[in-house]
Amino acid sequence: RATRLSVLKERPAITSDGVSITLKANIELPVEIDNVLENGAEGVGLLRSEFMYMNRETLPSEDDQYDVFKTLLEKLDGKPLTVRTLDIGGDKTAKSLIDDFGNSICNPLGMRGVRLSLNRPDILETQYRAMLRASLHGPIQILLPMVTSVNDVRQARRILHKVAAELRTEGHEIAQYLPPLGAMIEIPGAALAADALAQVCEFFAIGSNDLTMYTLATDRADEQVAHLYDPLHPAVLRLIQFTTQAALRNNIPISLCGEIAANPRYSPLLLGLGIRDLSMSASNIPKVKERLLEMECGAATQRANIIMEQTDSGRIAMLLDDFSDRGR
Ligand code: PEP
Ligand code: MG
Repeated sequence: RATRLSVLKERPAITSDGVSITLKANIELPVEIDNVLENGAEGVGLLRSEFMYMNRETLPSEDDQYDVFKTLLEKLDGKPLTVRTLDIGGDKTAKSLIDDFGNSICNPLGMRGVRLSLNRPDILETQYRAMLRASLHGPIQILLPMVTSVNDVRQARRILHKVAAELRTEGHEIAQYLPPLGAMIEIPGAALAADALAQVCEFFAIGSNDLTMYTLATDRADEQVAHLYDPLHPAVLRLIQFTTQAALRNNIPISLCGEIAANPRYSPLLLGLGIRDLSMSASNIPKVKERLLEMECGAATQRANIIMEQTDSGRIAMLLDDFSDRGR
């Protein structure tokens, strides 16, 4: 297994008809970075910054966060690091914030993600300061979770510019160009407004976990409705396709970083819908890469077109699995 991994690690992810795909890693804890590099990830597509806020009474300082980002960038040695701003809420909670926001923070429709960051700009500013200072050590990108409208991004960008100006006035050296600022597309309304959002974002990352949950009004953590939580539902696929096309039309990079990126079963469909950049937990990269190496992107696109004409997710699953069987 060790040799198979090391052979795969060095091979770029290119489909049998020559389409190159970028495979990056999602991380929740900095210790995962060694595993990220061992599995041949081309960067970190999603650093969930929540761990810095969980299991403690107080908020993390700017220096705490700077140290984390700097260490990761140094280990990545030139590969990009995408840091998501705080997304406490829904399934992730923090004692230091529950006092202020009460139940709203546990409510998936409440004060969470970028909403909380804009409501508590002090928290966002601390994250930005740490990221901007760390940006001297390698390519960093800033990803905003739970974006619903262009206003979220405009406000978040205004604060980013303000923080950069303050750092410069204080005499901090920061990179000449500010890091790209992008939005997670994980709310159906954001997906449908993707053309407008693409005007104010430098990149998109589709969060298919929450996108599935909100599209189908099905709690991703509630076992009683797990059978309804279906990323192959035609509505979810349409939103993924629409968002991807909007990114292409508007010339901004797009990646997908939900759980479906990590499962080779979905790879032909995601490629067929136009996705060329996937981010997943690092240990899944080799098996997704193996699937991509043997796959024809042209055939996957044709199959995706047929799938997108279907109305029933059972039939979609069948068309997908049948395609995979033939590919072997
Ligand atoms: C998602 O929602 O798809 C996602 C990648 O983020 P998280 O699982 O942290 O909500
Ligand atoms: Mg999410």
